[in-house]
Amino acid sequence: MIYLDYAANTPAHEEVLKSFVDFSTQYIANPNASHALGKETKIVLDEATERIAKLLGVQKSEIIYTSGATESNNLALKGIAYQYRRKGKHIITTYLEHSSVTSTVTALQNAGYEVDFVDVLKDGQVDLEHLKELLRPDTILVSLSHVDSEVGIKQPLKAIHDLLEGYPNCFFHVDATQAIGKIVVDLKDVDLLTFAPHKFYGLNGIGILIKKEGIMLEPVIHGGISTTAFRSGTPTLALIESAAKALELAIPHIDERYTYVEGLNIKLRKGLEKYANVHINSPKDASPFIVNFSVKGVNAAAFQQALEECEIYVATKSACCVVNTPSRPVYALTKDRKLALSTLRISLSHLTTEEEIESFLEVFERSYKNLVK
Ligand code: PLP
Repeated sequence: MIYLDYAANTPAHEEVLKSFVDFSTQYIANPNASHALGKETKIVLDEATERIAKLLGVQKSEIIYTSGATESNNLALKGIAYQYRRKGKHIITTYLEHSSVTSTVTALQNAGYEVDFVDVLKDGQVDLEHLKELLRPDTILVSLSHVDSEVGIKQPLKAIHDLLEGYPNCFFHVDATQAIGKIVVDLKDVDLLTFAPHKFYGLNGIGILIKKEGIMLEPVIHGGISTTAFRSGTPTLALIESAAKALELAIPHIDERYTYVEGLNIKLRKGLEKYANVHINSPKDASPFIVNFSVKGVNAAAFQQALEECEIYVATKSACCVVNTPSRPVYALTKDRKLALSTLRISLSHLTTEEEIESFLEVFERSYKNLVK
């Protein structure tokens, strides 16, 4: 079996799993319970939060736990939109975003908010001149991904942050779900930031939203006491500990893993470039963890199926997207509907071996000969 869909989900590290089991059995109380067992759990939970805060360079109070990146994006966008609606109802985003952002902005549009999509340049980076044109005194939010999930384009956060300085009512939300744990992210440049540990060998079921001090959010999930006023529900200590562990296991290795994966990426690109009908959609300076390409004239699902028959697992696009519809990010980048309808996404890991890439390329060659007429 060759798994090449690490952008969708990663296998949990055994130390992460162990920490989850250990903490689930060791600490049975609700951290908000007023008895001694609850207080003990709360102390341990605060320590885990402290470790996460240190690793990310933020305050403990700036961390909000959610169920995943989808919920974090919902809370960031709806939370800001509803909290600051009297300051304005204008939101800016891009066509590169994950469905958890695009569907949320659609919901906000239906609720009376005005949404603009900023153009991207040929290399996929946000057109800063267009962004300047779109920004208004009533713009309350710019939301975009640091690394998009389908093509892997990296956005220049500092340049965007600097541009927003002249707009005091506007917050900058970054979906860093494909970035945290894989590339160095400077959280100084953002007001809100989303990520989820299941993308870097942590567990499913927990997401994090960083919200800088002083920013208010209208909660999406109302209820009782949690670790924050902005999201209710009993905090799950074992998941929080597993998130701290996943970050501790990933962040110190970012540079070495990045370099290793860059090598795999070059090998993969070289192998694919020789085919006349293959168009590599990911720009050369995209995140090396993602290689998105189209095979002209071939339905992506047919290619995926052919690879799957040899136990090779790749994505046609982001796991949350409807199959057989054009890829929005690829269309935004290429303006070619045919390319956008036939995309395959390979996502790599430090766990991917050179031999796996070679086997993939061998099977790809056979499938290409069978499918491209
Ligand atoms: N944002 C991006 C950029 C993603 O890649 C994903 C998942 O693929 C999500 C959000 C949603 O993540 P989750 O599955 O944790 O809700």
